[in-house]
Amino acid sequence: MPIKPRKRLFISLLLALEIAIAAGLFLLWYIPSQGYANFGRNLSVFMAWITGAVVLVFTLGIVFLVVIILRGKEVRGARGLRGILIRYLIPVIIPIGRLFGIPKDDIRRSFIEINNELVKSSSFRVPPKRVLVLLPHCVQLDVCPYRLTVDVKNCRQCGKCDFSELTAIADRLGVEITVATGGTLARRVVMESNPEIIVGVACERDLSAGIVDTYPIPVIGVLLDRPEGPCVNTRVSVDRVSEALQNFLPEGFFDGEQKTDTAPAP
Ligand code: SF4
Repeated sequence: MPIKPRKRLFISLLLALEIAIAAGLFLLWYIPSQGYANFGRNLSVFMAWITGAVVLVFTLGIVFLVVIILRGKEVRGARGLRGILIRYLIPVIIPIGRLFGIPKDDIRRSFIEINNELVKSSSFRVPPKRVLVLLPHCVQLDVCPYRLTVDVKNCRQCGKCDFSELTAIADRLGVEITVATGGTLARRVVMESNPEIIVGVACERDLSAGIVDTYPIPVIGVLLDRPEGPCVNTRVSVDRVSEALQNFLPEGFFDGEQKTDTAPAP
């Protein structure tokens, strides 16, 4: 399976970060090497080993990431790699991308796709009740009089916006679906629901921030379409949400499309 350009962008930025770190460590070793010599040859050799070890670990990490994407199925260690990516690398990847003139949203989109691959490769399967589908308010038709922020069940499923199908799917499968009007509220909803898995729908900025904020909870991100511009009457691919749920719910669950709190008997 070839690696899509969107994912290649993130991997390229990781390589750029590795080169920058390696160059920095090399300079740290090379420039004061005369000074190290005054303290003894051992210190100079030690610094050379540190530089080599960091470059090796980084390279193996990138190769492992590429293997996960190419395999497209469960790989041991994917969870750990996702943790390293979110905790240590994301904060520096965006500034590095900006140095190359890459728009922030392109980098965020690439990160979201890589994150999704890592979550899918981690093989999480949980009962539907432990899955939270988190949606932004802007998916609701702007003139709809029903207040979904109070309770998503207020949707009459009239078919005029994507909530119609999304609430129907959530109801059929028994997963929790919630509307949040911003990052702070979304975080509160997550704390209260305490889900094991999240399917998050949002724009590039909110989704990438949400993935980082809710770590270590696994999140599959689905990006919004904005046919009328940002934050109004946005659209979401119901197929992509279903596909994301399929990754998390027990095997065979979708075939029966049953509403239950527990996994079906094998
Ligand atoms: S589908 Fe639901 S949220 Fe959308 S317009 Fe109809 S009632 Fe309102």
